[in-house]
Amino acid sequence: MSDHLLQSEPPPKGMPLPRVAYVNGRYVAHRDAMVHVEDRGYQFADGVYEVCEVRGGRPVDERRHIDRLDRSLRELRITWPISRRALGVVVRETIRRNRVRYGIVYLQISRGVAPRDHAFPPAGTPSSLVVTAKSLDAAGNEAMAAAGIAVITVPENRWPRVDIKSISLLPNVLAKQAAREASAREAWFVDPSGHVTEGSSTNAWIVTRDGKLVTRPADHSILRGVTRTVLLEVIAAQGLTFDERPFTVEEAYVAREAFVTSASQIVMPVVSIDGRPVGNGAPGLVASALRRDFHRHAEIG
Ligand code: PLP
Repeated sequence: MSDHLLQSEPPPKGMPLPRVAYVNGRYVAHRDAMVHVEDRGYQFADGVYEVCEVRGGRPVDERRHIDRLDRSLRELRITWPISRRALGVVVRETIRRNRVRYGIVYLQISRGVAPRDHAFPPAGTPSSLVVTAKSLDAAGNEAMAAAGIAVITVPENRWPRVDIKSISLLPNVLAKQAAREASAREAWFVDPSGHVTEGSSTNAWIVTRDGKLVTRPADHSILRGVTRTVLLEVIAAQGLTFDERPFTVEEAYVAREAFVTSASQIVMPVVSIDGRPVGNGAPGLVASALRRDFHRHAEIG
């Protein structure tokens, strides 16, 4: 579909709105949105990404997400495809064209298109940029938070630089599938010393029996979640005690509460770990209060 057609009047009421994706400089129909077969993201998972929540049609904590994107790009020596300012415009335009009020916007940058060779392509090869946006079911998400989710644990098998938000996610894919097959929503990676690192797409938290919040320090062994960062402000504002240290699976089994954080789920209570109920098996008060207050502290632009 050509670009000008996408700018035409919305379809009559009742007809579904076609989704639109931004791909390397063009807004195209989502169903036709494609990258080249020699895109290095496709061939080598040589790229990075970000996911921002959208609320009221606006990106949440965009500045922090773009700062992290910039860090991931620098760590992997991938060049910015367009300016940071232009990316902000594309993000808003993609949200607008997809009429997303509540949902997520996804950004992916790869090292570009070049004849297949593991080493970097010639200097000057433009990096590739894809941006998509989609609506999420707010009521469904709230219902999930009210019920809480089940988590399983799996051995940590990722590379030692998961602080970089790379699109190379095979262990995360396998972990999430293992969770699905165990009727759980998330899998927590456990390092060789028995400590939880993080979830396959979330950061992991517990509340101890004496009411302390615990989450692992953001070193190279976890992704420094933007939700995690903002939540530290919510925790301080609520006057809660916080201990930034690794915790073991055994500690999690006997915790008063557990929860996960991510841009798309904010604070999601965990009600069972490996089939054992956490606390009384219902979402905890601390997690629920943090979820309730989160957006007072987030930047909505
Ligand atoms: N850890 C991993 C492995 C993730 O994939 C994500 C989000 O996708 C997070 C943590 C949470 O990060 P954020 O709060 O920025 O969404």
